[in-house]
Amino acid sequence: MTQSVATIEESISRPLTELSEDEQMFRASVREFAEGEIRKRVEEMDEQGHLEPALMKQCFELGLMGIETPEEFGGAGGSFFQAILAVEELSRVDASVGVFVDVQNTLVNNAVMRWGNPEQKRKYLSQLASEKVGAYALSEAGSGSDAFAMQTHAVDRGDHFVLNGRKLWITNGREAEIFVLFANANPDAGYRGISAFIVEKATEGFSVGKKENKLGIRASSTTELILEDCKVPKENVLGEVGRGYKVSIETLNEGRIGIGAQMIGIARGALESALAYTSERQQFGKSVNEFQGVQFQLAEMATELEAARLMVYNAARMKDVGLSFVKEAAMAKLYSSRAAERIASKAIELYGGYGYVKDYPVEKYWRDSKIGAIYEGTSNMQLQTIAKLIIGK
Ligand SMILES: Cc1cc2nc3c(=O)[nH]c(=O)nc-3n(C[C@H](O)[C@H](O)[C@H](O)COP(=O)(O)OP(=O)(O)OC[C@H]3O[C@@H](n4cnc5c(N)ncnc54)[C@H](O)[C@@H]3O)c2cc1C
Repeated sequence: MTQSVATIEESISRPLTELSEDEQMFRASVREFAEGEIRKRVEEMDEQGHLEPALMKQCFELGLMGIETPEEFGGAGGSFFQAILAVEELSRVDASVGVFVDVQNTLVNNAVMRWGNPEQKRKYLSQLASEKVGAYALSEAGSGSDAFAMQTHAVDRGDHFVLNGRKLWITNGREAEIFVLFANANPDAGYRGISAFIVEKATEGFSVGKKENKLGIRASSTTELILEDCKVPKENVLGEVGRGYKVSIETLNEGRIGIGAQMIGIARGALESALAYTSERQQFGKSVNEFQGVQFQLAEMATELEAARLMVYNAARMKDVGLSFVKEAAMAKLYSSRAAERIASKAIELYGGYGYVKDYPVEKYWRDSKIGAIYEGTSNMQLQTIAKLIIGK
């Protein structure tokens, strides 16, 4: 038996949640970083609504900003599943750091790896892996679920396009220097005019607008982007002009698994906190986890998390082996965001009054969980995708 066949057989026969040696080592290193460097800063970053620059630098140094990026471009040459493990582990401690790494890997790097030409890959993948934060700019004030109704447009001026419009809700908007941004180059053609561009922050006519003050993932920046006669060179068109809709649909399909990972990380953080607290908290002369009522609630939470985790891991492993995963990704995001919200909410209740205040971690898990039902397609849009695929219409 050749080595490659043996490796494939080994990975197929392995249970979904059983990690290979490489995956175990990778997860352990991300966990060490999250526990050692992130945990002590979580409360302050949430309070102040910003990501500590030192942490962002460490994310680059640890190879977390280019997990799947090939080694020839300075990336770690890992798998999509490893990116998912990283987002889960980071989100277990802080979902803002989780989404910071998630957007870079599952949306920005992925779009450039898949649609970039050799020159774009050489130039941008190496910068994204080593020093520059990326962002993914699709949504606008008037077009969220109906993203292709965007107003931002691009006019062909020979060797460059001139972009005008505004993007809203852009994750990493404050820190990013490289933007995968969508604009319509032929509004008469509807969605078939949408094109993807790589826009550098320093480009003339580009600026970052207002930063949102949010309910959850407060340390993650969410900003407006303003394009006023923004001159983007033709060599920065990502993929073909008029095929941007495909770039966005396909990258978001993968991105949704990343949001699923963020959600199971949040749920794990909340469950672990609840397990620890209920073993310490004494009422009626014993630990509250000695009451069957509490035990059953913890068991429900653990079961729901397990189901969500299996869905996310399965979708990620399907993507890695080249199977179609669109339905599974939509289901994983839908289910894991609901699970995270329910598990974090239950954790607050198990903490009693202490769960309701900011001195303890669980109220933040709950606030952070809410975004899972909104970005990268609301829960209704996931249901629409799933329904289309199971009904066949
Ligand atoms: C914190 C945060 C970070 C974000 N990061 C990014 C980012 O990095 N890049 C980016 O491009 N965007 C980003 N977004 C935008 C996000 O993807 C959109 O908010 C989301 O797609 C929903 O769009 P909307 O807010 O316009 O809601 P709407 O589309 O107006 O939806 C309002 C309600 O109507 C429902 N609805 C709409 N259409 C239908 C339908 N056909 N059937 C049934 N129900 C429907 C929705 O489910 C929702 O409940 C972010 C948003 C937030 C809040």
